[in-house]
Amino acid sequence: MDAALIAALRNVLGEAGLVGSGSRLVPYESDGLAMLRHTPEMVLLPRTTAEAAHSMRLLAEAGVPVVGRGAGTGLSGGATPVEGGVVISLARMRDVLEVDPAGRLARVQAGVVNADLTRAAAPHGLFYAPDPSSQMACTIGGNVAENSGGPHCFMHGSTTRHILGLVIVCADGEVLDLSEPQPDPSGYDLIGSFVGSEGTLGLVTEVTVKLTRVPPVTETLLAVFPGLDGACDSVSDMIAARLEPSALEILDRLTIQAVEASVFAAGYPKTAEAVLLVELEGSALEVDVTSKDVLAILEQRGAIELRKARDPLERRKLWAGRKGAFGAMGRIAPDLYVADAVVPRTKLRRMVARTAEICRERNLRLATVFHAGDGNLHPNICYDRRDLDEVKRVLEAGRMILQECIAAGGSLTGEHGVGLEKLEGMDMLFKQADLATMCRMRDAWDPERRMNPGKLLPVRACREVRTNPLPGVEARDAAAGAES
Ligand SMILES: Cc1cc2nc3c(=O)[nH]c(=O)nc-3n(C[C@H](O)[C@H](O)[C@H](O)COP(=O)(O)OP(=O)(O)OC[C@H]3O[C@@H](n4cnc5c(N)ncnc54)[C@H](O)[C@@H]3O)c2cc1C
Repeated sequence: MDAALIAALRNVLGEAGLVGSGSRLVPYESDGLAMLRHTPEMVLLPRTTAEAAHSMRLLAEAGVPVVGRGAGTGLSGGATPVEGGVVISLARMRDVLEVDPAGRLARVQAGVVNADLTRAAAPHGLFYAPDPSSQMACTIGGNVAENSGGPHCFMHGSTTRHILGLVIVCADGEVLDLSEPQPDPSGYDLIGSFVGSEGTLGLVTEVTVKLTRVPPVTETLLAVFPGLDGACDSVSDMIAARLEPSALEILDRLTIQAVEASVFAAGYPKTAEAVLLVELEGSALEVDVTSKDVLAILEQRGAIELRKARDPLERRKLWAGRKGAFGAMGRIAPDLYVADAVVPRTKLRRMVARTAEICRERNLRLATVFHAGDGNLHPNICYDRRDLDEVKRVLEAGRMILQECIAAGGSLTGEHGVGLEKLEGMDMLFKQADLATMCRMRDAWDPERRMNPGKLLPVRACREVRTNPLPGVEARDAAAGAES
């Protein structure tokens, strides 16, 4: 990178705000999809919106690509700087700016860790509802960019339902202050279109979120099954019976074994083929009535053991097992490919079986843990990235799983985003006209396409709709297209 540009950035951010070379760049080469890597030219660590905006202006003048980064827990390659350029990390923007119990909202810097927001709201009897299993590490900015889900999003809805305002630094460094919640918004829904845009429209530096009341009563049930079918059918039956648990999570045998051998051991029976975690929230009466109906369904569907958490400690333990499941998998394989398939809930049982078949046919070990209530499967394929043939088989299995989900009326991503991983799948899911409209929207925010280039939208689709290419951009796109 140009020495004058580096000096100007150092002026804005100070020495501690710049990571310029050597092994300190390694952590920024990839996110949780570790098989895809690229070293950034530099990492910037602003502390305020003003510093981020000033840096973005300098980068815009020099035409440098920019990749926003929260905690790097993404699983689709979203924060991987495939086209080089600069990573802007929000790691030093971790202040909770305001908790307003009367307005039931909070304002935070985008680098605040998800679980820290709930900690800040807890003294007011409030919490931030979207709870990705990575919530001890992932940031609110990353959650906004990915429209993240989590176990309790079954009842409370995913991130987009909880975002009231944003401060966005645009690609050219202009600051768009949309932080003040509008009771009845008019005009285009800029916040809605930004949530889930995977860092391709701008950098979010501050977020205003809705806080939710901690329910008077919470009950957690663990149901043990002799097979995955019974667990999947229980979920379908509960929904058909119009019951509304707040979370419905399934873990299979291999996952249970990994969890029980780890620091996240939750007391799941080690020989079980499947466990289903059901959580109920509401008034004492609501929970009591729903609990009876849920238990009846679980018994009918062949649960061989039913357990209610007796106290908050046991409840926390049951959840620690579920939320630590991906981490625990490190015990059974050096690498993990976490697919993010989603199908209509009625197809869950069939898709779970089909996923197992696809992996068996390719001699791959599969561990499955998923947000069953949302139809969001997470087939976790174990592999070793040093074994290139295995990597090939893993990618093939991942592609097939996605194809079958789309054919079953599902989608490309339940919550982890398209990123790099599922780019080619966008053509399967969307018509050319849909992709063209998305490309035009992206161009309205970032006409030079410097924000997180190479992600979310296939390059070819964007090039086809561009009628008046900007100098330089066309050449870069052509190069990226040739690589892909
Ligand atoms: C163990 C584990 C469990 C997980 N469980 C869940 C789950 O239950 N639900 C779920 O939805 N996901 C889950 N994930 C995926 C991941 O944690 C989420 O996608 C999370 O929202 C990513 O946040 P992050 O701060 O790590 O973002 P990063 O990984 O750093 O970035 C993700 C994307 O957001 C963009 N981005 C980040 N910050 C900004 C910003 N400030 N402005 C603009 N763009 C930005 C990046 O460019 C990238 O495209 C899990 C991941 C792991 C490793």
